Amino acid sequence: MASQIPALPQSYAPTNESVFSDQSGFFSLDSNVPGLSRVILNSLNMKDYGQYRAAVEGKNKGISFRNYKDMFNKMEETFKFCTGCNKLPEHLTEGQSLKRCVKCLNVYYCTKDCQRKDWPQHKKVCKKLRLVGIDRLVEWLSFTGNLPFPTKKWCKSAAEVRNWEDWLSMQGDLSPCLDTILSGGNMTNLWKNNCRPRPDDDDLRQSLWRIQSEFLSRVLTVGMAVQHFSLDPYAKPLTIHLAGASHNESMGARLTDYDELNSMFPGHQGIEVVMVGPEVVDGPIVRPPLRAFGPRQRVYISAYKGLYHQFWEELVEKKEAAKPDLVVGYHPGFHANKGLIEGWLPTLLLLRDFNIPSFFTMFSEMELECSLQILHELEIHIRDSGPNPFTSQKPEQVQACPNKMPVYCNSQYIRFQGLQPQQESEEASPDN
Ligand SMILES: [Zn+2]
Ligand SMILES: [Zn+2]
Repeated sequence: MASQIPALPQSYAPTNESVFSDQSGFFSLDSNVPGLSRVILNSLNMKDYGQYRAAVEGKNKGISFRNYKDMFNKMEETFKFCTGCNKLPEHLTEGQSLKRCVKCLNVYYCTKDCQRKDWPQHKKVCKKLRLVGIDRLVEWLSFTGNLPFPTKKWCKSAAEVRNWEDWLSMQGDLSPCLDTILSGGNMTNLWKNNCRPRPDDDDLRQSLWRIQSEFLSRVLTVGMAVQHFSLDPYAKPLTIHLAGASHNESMGARLTDYDELNSMFPGHQGIEVVMVGPEVVDGPIVRPPLRAFGPRQRVYISAYKGLYHQFWEELVEKKEAAKPDLVVGYHPGFHANKGLIEGWLPTLLLLRDFNIPSFFTMFSEMELECSLQILHELEIHIRDSGPNPFTSQKPEQVQACPNKMPVYCNSQYIRFQGLQPQQESEEASPDN
């Protein structure tokens, strides 16, 4: 019987457009359901993801949704294809319609038969996808300004905060804060206008936390990298580059997004965060980086749209931007061949040759292994790697392959710097 189950699409293979996108990104729709994103964009009369998200945020002048209902409907359309056979709505025969799995309300099927055949696969992820289904709607509250919610000052030193548990223990009871969002107008609007019933309050509280954790995961990962490299933000101002910053990080980014670093290193000498990536989305953070030091005790964010090695040539080498003390990248996906050759290779060589402390995260152990292999082949000196204690708690669906086990942002990391030590300079080991 197994042979009758439609084969799951092969793993993510980047196209020209998806080279710099992560696996969960919009364009990865293209990789397994040919033309799906094109279909959506055409039906919305939009030319790219940026326009789409801008419209969702209500920022687009030319294009906007008629009302919330219309907007949530359009967002839902991006998930409408048969999980069993990949059929799009337009390929259905007359009288057919895509029906949702009633358990997760997150995947669609063209027929009962397709659903039945898919169940052995889908049942492994259905429970997780229920959370994905809630989160992808609740995430809208980060565009309305309800998320991230404000955090409290740290009562422990950075070194003492080793994982989420430690961080949460400093925050006290989160429920008053979460309940304010729960009873707010935006939350009401959300469930009045999207096409599923409002989950119970406890589900929503947990979802709010998961989305908050994704936001904080990035900041805390940077702080962890600072500590792992023993950089001292009290000795001198730090410049941190986020290489390959994507729309995920730069969409709707605010000047205060890395302020958790102020709680982590109170009274520091100044921390500049520069987001660099071809997918950087226009907004208040898109402003020139600093040539030297940022304001003391403050985090200064700027952003540059372009590839990292270009940024280096254009700005760092010409001393228009300060040289980094640390480079961090969130799931660059340089294990995807094309991305490596076209985008990441010059950057990796540059980081290696300038001996820059570098810290990159991955979505999964599989991605970690592939990335380690690549760095090894480039003779990059890997300092350590493993699970990130500040992994995002929000499950991320591999959008075009809903039956793949959901992944988590920043769940693994690699820390590297410089060239692998030469053979002759190594201490003789007992094996030699
Ligand atoms: Zn089907
Ligand atoms: Zn399901």
